[in-house]
Amino acid sequence: AVEILDLHKSFGQVEVLSGVNLSASAGEVVSMIGSSGSGKSTFLRCINMLEQPNGGRIIVDGEEIRMKKTADGRSHPADMRQVERIRARVGMVFQSFNLWPHLTVLENIIEAPVHVLKERREESVEYAHALLKKVGLSDKHAQYPGQLSGGQQQRAAIARTLAMRPKVILLDEPTSALDPELVGEVLRVIRQLAEEGNTMILVTHEMQFAREVSHKILFLHRGKVEEEGAPAELFANPRSERLRQFLARTL
Ligand code: ATP
Ligand code: MG
Repeated sequence: AVEILDLHKSFGQVEVLSGVNLSASAGEVVSMIGSSGSGKSTFLRCINMLEQPNGGRIIVDGEEIRMKKTADGRSHPADMRQVERIRARVGMVFQSFNLWPHLTVLENIIEAPVHVLKERREESVEYAHALLKKVGLSDKHAQYPGQLSGGQQQRAAIARTLAMRPKVILLDEPTSALDPELVGEVLRVIRQLAEEGNTMILVTHEMQFAREVSHKILFLHRGKVEEEGAPAELFANPRSERLRQFLARTL
């Protein structure tokens, strides 16, 4: 489970997140939608501390990231070792895959379990093969990322994320860098993860998909949650004019 309370983030004078709240209980899929620049990626990046929030609370799997305030009134994590520990429980899947080009698919997947979790190599290799089977890439374990299609690379990246046995998986537009014909194979894997009860926070422009897999949808507008609700309700009866306009543009 993840709970985010009153999250604030500024870049210089510009406030990009103005008090965002989100909770995802174990097994829940929460999707974030919103226009370009509304703060979706920044929000995800704050959850695993790729960006440092300036205020608010982040609680992952029952453990709250301890923050301290400096003289200028900004908040910073109090203990980077705690951040590292929590970060290891938060998986992230990026739009651009981010696989290591000089490592094979298998080596990419076992890299963090071996070096961060200190798993035994044989154990990591065995689990990696199980994950490759799950994402439909059993025959690609010895290939390099450059030898794979975009959809295959993204499925390998998902397997790599799963190898860390994350408590929550953050996905930032996982299909938007793909050719249209490759989107389906990646969405199928994500749908399977949802059905298996993984806790996920998904940023996506795939409205139909968000509607099908999500328990809850948040519409972000200028760094605030403008509206949230169950997908069927939110899409059928948007209450705010901004969400209505957004859906009219995207559906
Ligand atoms: P998109 O749908 O295009 O991915 P988004 O909702 O993910 O958009 P963000 O990438 O979170 O939006 O950006 C939110 C705002 O924060 C934008 O105005 C962006 O220019 C600004 N921003 C993001 N990262 C930085 C940074 N490192 N430095 C300064 N401004 C930033
Ligand atoms: Mg983004």
